[in-house]
Amino acid sequence: MSDYLLAIDQGTTSSRVIVFDSGGAVCGQAQREFRQHFPADGQVEHDAGEIWTGCLELCRGALKNARLEARQIAGIGITNQRETTVLWDRASGEPLARAIVWQDRRTAGHCERLREAGHERMVQEKTGLLLDPYFSATKLAWLLDNVPGARDRARRGELAFGTMDCWLLWKLTGGRVHATDATNASRTLLFNIHEQKWDPQLLELFDIPAELLPQVRDSAADFGSTQPALLGTPIPVTGIAGDQQAALVGQACFEPGMVKSTYGTGCFMMLNTGDQAILSEHRLLTTVGYRLDGKTTYAQEGAIFMAGATIQWLRDGLRIIDHASESEALARRVGSAHGVYLVPAFTGLGAPWWDPHARGALLGLTRDTGIAEVVTAGLEAVCYQTLDLLEAMEADGAGRPKALRVDGGMVVNDWLAQNLADTLGLRVDRPVVTETTALGAAWLAGLQAGLFDSLEAISGRWRCDRSFEPRLAESERRSRHQGWTEAVNRIRSDRPAG
Ligand code: ADP
Repeated sequence: MSDYLLAIDQGTTSSRVIVFDSGGAVCGQAQREFRQHFPADGQVEHDAGEIWTGCLELCRGALKNARLEARQIAGIGITNQRETTVLWDRASGEPLARAIVWQDRRTAGHCERLREAGHERMVQEKTGLLLDPYFSATKLAWLLDNVPGARDRARRGELAFGTMDCWLLWKLTGGRVHATDATNASRTLLFNIHEQKWDPQLLELFDIPAELLPQVRDSAADFGSTQPALLGTPIPVTGIAGDQQAALVGQACFEPGMVKSTYGTGCFMMLNTGDQAILSEHRLLTTVGYRLDGKTTYAQEGAIFMAGATIQWLRDGLRIIDHASESEALARRVGSAHGVYLVPAFTGLGAPWWDPHARGALLGLTRDTGIAEVVTAGLEAVCYQTLDLLEAMEADGAGRPKALRVDGGMVVNDWLAQNLADTLGLRVDRPVVTETTALGAAWLAGLQAGLFDSLEAISGRWRCDRSFEPRLAESERRSRHQGWTEAVNRIRSDRPAG
């Protein structure tokens, strides 16, 4: 019987492969970091070849750790760092240059020019995104303009573009399949999320030859099989989704109004909005949550730049703690930050303010403020920012969710999870398996491979580890948030008067 699933989770700093059984339990895994290249200020690159060979070895390693053979795997799911752009030669299968990573800001000027020329509204209406270097289109244009001969070769159909999922699929299938899924396509700025196809007007705006583009399939689909020699026997690739979308699936947020938030270095919140693509007036992103049987489920997304990174700064920058986990005991000791606010705008403010010129601040200090209050303020900041995102989603017309499903490295912190519930006035649910990204990729693969017959079957496998109910009085909740809003207003570069 082949009823195991293998998930390739190709992240920003490391790749990981996890083998799950059909109940969602982890049977074996392997993980490896890869090199980050910083060729110039604001530039971040990855070696796509290194990532591919690394992932292949991890697949072998995870199977070995799980004591399973390739023939016992019903399907492979791929999830990946989104937007990162790979350009390769179809004949040789070699990348033309290093991949440009989502964090890379080299195309800020290009985006600025397009914005000034008045294109942002059209782009937002078609893609749900903003004109920002974060997304793939201007990165791809940069490669075409800067790799000698690339543009001509692209027009002749000799080159292929893809995000990491698409690149790995190409390599896994020995160059037979050039395809991606709708969630990854929806992050390129080239894909019309309403019509679910590459958009000629966008291709023209960014000057991208259509010959480069992969085919776009459902998130659970037949993506071909791995070359027999790679893993010993061909395994079908049956699921693909970008990392945050995979986490939405791994958290079984299948009903409109269900929301998940992943707390790692940064935080990504995603709300299922069903068949409605809600266009944000608060600079949140509208994106494809997943596409199954040709039916698109949309999502709204908001990001917090500094979540766990704030705790890292307290540890490595200020050195007032030795380990991230100490933050929990300190917060428990003082209960709250007692009016101290840490606004971690180290690289500006993200949604819903979008103020790249703002910088961080520590406010409300008194003679009895100590390390514990400052650390607690760092944890509280993560919770306030989550509330701001949730309120922006509500202002855009989304209903209030019943609960927030959380995952990521930070949520082992029970104090944080409880404070999140208190700050939001909402129940916070933490699942047993917090590897939700890989799990989501596995669920999608299992859906297509026939291990599950419906999304309900997946929902039934989602297990809650612990629920945190809000305990704070509404008046106290409001007054604390008011203090936070005032602190944020103090550091905004477009500071409101008064
Ligand atoms: P990523 O996937 O972005 O690398 P992880 O999901 O592994 O991140 O989460 C790691 C982050 O969580 C780090 O930024 C770390 O500071 C933070 N973190 C880890 N444990 C705790 C804890 N007990 N309390 C608060 N933050 C924590």
